[in-house]
Amino acid sequence: MIQLENVEKVYRRSDGFVRALAGVTLDIEAGCFVVVRGPSGCGKSTLLNVIGGLASPTAGRVRVAGQDLSAMSAAERARFRASHVGFVFQTFHLLPYLTVLENVAMAALPGQEAAAKKRAHQLLYDFHLADRAGHRPAELSTGECQRVAIARALINQPRLLLADEPTGNLDPQNTATVLDLLETFHRQGGTVVLVTHQQVASNHAQRTILLHEGKIESSDSPASMLAEGPLDG
Ligand code: ADP
Repeated sequence: MIQLENVEKVYRRSDGFVRALAGVTLDIEAGCFVVVRGPSGCGKSTLLNVIGGLASPTAGRVRVAGQDLSAMSAAERARFRASHVGFVFQTFHLLPYLTVLENVAMAALPGQEAAAKKRAHQLLYDFHLADRAGHRPAELSTGECQRVAIARALINQPRLLLADEPTGNLDPQNTATVLDLLETFHRQGGTVVLVTHQQVASNHAQRTILLHEGKIESSDSPASMLAEGPLDG
């Protein structure tokens, strides 16, 4: 599903250059639930943005769903994103002046607006938000806002969901609900890449990638981490 080859991402800032990704090579199978961890500033969000086509790599190759993102123009990447990737962020990014239903349906692919509106209603029903469809985000709790954001991410039925600290602003109960929604997407065959600091979220991972200063420090499934651990301590 996702192949990265020697990916570098360098940002230019007023105080110099920042190497957010410093040669990342990675292969994530379709249908995998991957958690990305690491200290603040190690490149987790950048990695997600490069995988999802929100940012282009400075060097290296990025292939997602069989397509070479590194060779695409910004417009091509935007089209790719709309049809293949759902993004979920810590701060929801809902549009305050649109209703819940409009927020979910707004990401619909061109020409599919009618079907998307129907699907938005279904997603809101599935996520226990049907009675909120006509409300604006300011009238919702944070947990409800994140459920709306996940519904929006799923509106075009992507195979890949990229979530950047989606439970960072939520209490434990809403965290569990959001993780359940990600898990349901995964059980239905979707690929999930989840950036998180929270152990409870990591428990869902089939594989954990640890980043450090823009490089992969380790990339293990829980079983292999266990096998390498000090079992006879
Ligand atoms: P993390 O998600 O692990 O906290 P980020 O990917 O956000 O890390 O950032 C990695 C590094 O790149 C940090 O030093 C950050 O300040 C820098 N960075 C991220 N985005 C930008 C940007 N748009 N412009 C300049 N520097 C950036």
